[in-house]
Amino acid sequence: MEHHPVVISGAGPVGLVAALSLAQKGIAVVVLESEDHIPQDLRAGTFHPPTVEMLDTLNIGETLRSRALRVPEWQIRDRKQGLVAQFDLGIIADLTPYPFRLHVEQHKLSSIAAEALAQHAHAQILFSHRCLGYEQDADGVTVQAAGPDGRTIEIRASYVIGADGARSVVRKTMGTEFEGFTWPERFLVFATRYDLREQGYTGNAYIADPDEWSAIFIQPHDGPPPIWRIAFPIPAEMDETEVLDPDFVQGKIKGFLSPDLDYDVPYKSVYRVHQRVAKDFRDGRVMLAGDAAHVNNPLGGMGLNSGIHDAMNLTAKLAEVLLHGASSDLLDRYHRQRRTVNVEYVQAITIRNKRLLEERDPEVRRERLDELRATVADRDAHRQYLINSSMIASIRRANEIQ
Ligand SMILES: Cc1cc2nc3c(=O)[nH]c(=O)nc-3n(C[C@H](O)[C@H](O)[C@H](O)COP(=O)(O)OP(=O)(O)OC[C@H]3O[C@@H](n4cnc5c(N)ncnc54)[C@H](O)[C@@H]3O)c2cc1C
Repeated sequence: MEHHPVVISGAGPVGLVAALSLAQKGIAVVVLESEDHIPQDLRAGTFHPPTVEMLDTLNIGETLRSRALRVPEWQIRDRKQGLVAQFDLGIIADLTPYPFRLHVEQHKLSSIAAEALAQHAHAQILFSHRCLGYEQDADGVTVQAAGPDGRTIEIRASYVIGADGARSVVRKTMGTEFEGFTWPERFLVFATRYDLREQGYTGNAYIADPDEWSAIFIQPHDGPPPIWRIAFPIPAEMDETEVLDPDFVQGKIKGFLSPDLDYDVPYKSVYRVHQRVAKDFRDGRVMLAGDAAHVNNPLGGMGLNSGIHDAMNLTAKLAEVLLHGASSDLLDRYHRQRRTVNVEYVQAITIRNKRLLEERDPEVRRERLDELRATVADRDAHRQYLINSSMIASIRRANEIQ
């Protein structure tokens, strides 16, 4: 049986990293992708140090770094008071060869991983193939997919990885709950080519405000020059056409940057944000990874990073099972390790980050911002904050779980 490939639903960054990791270990893999190309939409763009180190083990870290921008310092600001705290990843340079946030669009990682995958004859990406579901028995899994002509095909798999995003068909077939909640407000995300460094910003900054908090990320785009992506909350009741109105967007930028300039806005969109974790990451021979398993708000840049951490953890265990005769019980450890750290770190930190930025009570707000000032002023506290926010702590914690 085990000569059947591992089938991965979804050629997003998580599915492709998982596929490359398996292919490099000599394991046959088939990736099903519903689109006819690798999706190029502007989404995640921050890679934390442990993720960059993992990509090095797949020999794609250097290529990604060559297309990316390095952000060694990032800020928390208050909309009215200005700079509150500036974090410096140089303080953890003894813990990682990459003491910076690496900023690059996630589709560039997907393309690099797909190119590397193409070097392996035992790896295949089937574009325009939408996974419809699966059935499993004691010996394997039969995956159903709709091909480009609309006809249903079946592929027999040794194991299946559901990396098909937040609306995962694999998760729905599994029938596990996607536990958590959806934030009532939506996020407006737009981009400008105006260089925010001219007004004192670092390549990544978070601005606290009870009504108009925001998050700022520099991205290489097709530059130089780079592009700056900015996210704002939008009240639940506001109509999307109103939100995307050019004057409304200009008003948002001028509210925190100099009002005397006009800012070009080549990109804007509105999206909904969720905090959810699948109750089970494993059903027999089927596992979930990435957004299929968990989703969170983007404040802290942890969604895609944690998905890549899933992919690396899971593929190492699958290799033990498929190549070295380990018991498939090892795959339960994947569920325990990755689900636990998603709840304890990714969900907890991203919810805390959002609450910090939007705090309405002036007393609590002052206390929290003072705590951040004290954190950066104390080297040990600053270091510990970076160990958590760079996801080093979450990897250590996962490794402790049996
Ligand atoms: C606006 C925005 C900003 C974000 N910013 C950040 C950030 O700064 N840092 C961060 O870490 N994360 C961020 N995220 C989250 C990040 O984009 C996701 O965590 C990441 O895309 C997850 O990758 P994935 O491969 O698991 O899923 P996806 O990228 O969603 O990929 C899933 C793939 O599966 C395919 N697919 C879906 N259904 C099927 C099917 N039935 N059959 C076959 N294929 C299928 C899709 O076409 C897609 O290619 C952001 C998200 C958004 C929306």
